[in-house]
Amino acid sequence: MTTENTSHGSAALLDPASVNQAASRPKEDDSFKIAQQQLENAVRLIDLDPSVHAVLRIPKREVTVNFPVKMASGETRMFTGYRVQHNDSRGPSKGGIRYHPETSIDEVRALAMWMTWKCALVNIPFGGAKGGVICDPRKLTPGETEDLTRRYTSEIYSFIGPELDIPAPDMGTNAQTMAWMMDTYSRHSGRTVPAVVTGKPISVGGSEGRNDATGLGVVITAGLAAARRGTKLDGSSVVVQGFGNVGNATVRFLAKAGAKVTAVSSVEGGVYNKRGIDVQKLLDHVNQNGTVGGFREGEPVSNQELLELPCDILIPAALQGQLNAQNADKVQAKIVVEAANGPTSPEADDILNDKGVLVVPDILANAGGVVVSYFEWVQDLQCFFWSENEVNHKLEAIMQNTFAQVIDAQRRYETTLRLAAYSVGVKRVAEATLIRGIYA
Ligand code: NAD
Repeated sequence: MTTENTSHGSAALLDPASVNQAASRPKEDDSFKIAQQQLENAVRLIDLDPSVHAVLRIPKREVTVNFPVKMASGETRMFTGYRVQHNDSRGPSKGGIRYHPETSIDEVRALAMWMTWKCALVNIPFGGAKGGVICDPRKLTPGETEDLTRRYTSEIYSFIGPELDIPAPDMGTNAQTMAWMMDTYSRHSGRTVPAVVTGKPISVGGSEGRNDATGLGVVITAGLAAARRGTKLDGSSVVVQGFGNVGNATVRFLAKAGAKVTAVSSVEGGVYNKRGIDVQKLLDHVNQNGTVGGFREGEPVSNQELLELPCDILIPAALQGQLNAQNADKVQAKIVVEAANGPTSPEADDILNDKGVLVVPDILANAGGVVVSYFEWVQDLQCFFWSENEVNHKLEAIMQNTFAQVIDAQRRYETTLRLAAYSVGVKRVAEATLIRGIYA
């Protein structure tokens, strides 16, 4: 069952719970209000035409799907999934798919909007989108995850495609999920279509360097931010929250750059060692156990305590809303690099800025993932593949160039890095929207 809601149509969003009692219930979430507020701040800064603002403040298309999956127990369970396309003025929309028990339409809307600004900021020819399925991937068997992925893909089949909307991994999904999505889309199309998703395994058209790209981009921007503060990564103490795709790669690149990683965590909690964690031992532990939990080379800390530890750089790489009005004042880091999407609430943003903490915003800090996704899409379309070295060099050039553009905008507007990054991204999307005009 599919419901489509467009900003130009009147179809109301389906309340999944009203359709089937067994469907998972969506949760209230204020991420989208925050995303709209951030846009409004940028609109005021760059003095944007109100009619363009009206177009940009809501997503272009929202799809809600409720679908059954036959579980290993033999029971049939209903799941709810979303795909939101915020804007496609600059090209096909692009964004990850999240599997999480608390994902919601508002969270997906916010994440889709952030993707629009991020793609424009790094100047790649994509708009923004995001998808999500309300489920706990840790409680699904591999077979159930595959069935759920294939059914979700077939439900959104008409709304994705290499020139339409290109999914990628996000929280709770990975390269294997993308391989199943690509295969399902390809079977429906009657031909193999690698460019429909990015973040795939190399054997089916993935790009060298994609797995680690977000983490590498985070560490490149952390280095540039440290230089702004007259210091460098080598010898800096760094705390990282979240040890999934992004956190894991971030910690590896930090260690390579000579940083001292003093605390890491996953959902069940973390570990702190002020002398520096032995990263190789940590990686061996995570490879064996799949999580940071149980790693004993330091003191145990909760995810909340971890954010307040003394350090030079704090890198939230898990969920949104982690730094908020309750804890921002207790943050001891001098630099916060947002590897996660939306980890800092607007109140926390103000508190951190007042304290003189340099906050590198998500749309800049974690853009490495979508940059290499763009490289993957280009390689798939050309059937011509690049070396890891080539990918990483091109990524580094884009991250450095983008960081410099954000610093220019920060000087011009005398504002924060977040608003400066928004000003660059929103202006580019607005320009494309204005030049294309309104089709009536
Ligand atoms: P993941 O599912 O691979 O890992 C998430 C990690 O966060 C896990 O270690 C998990 O245990 C931990 N976690 C979950 N809930 C937590 C909580 N309440 N407190 C502390 N830790 C918790 O996800 P990922 O792909 O690494 O994504 C992490 C963040 O980075 C998300 O905000 C995502 O949107 C963003 N991001 C991801 C990519 C990408 O390429 N995967 C790109 C850009 C941004």
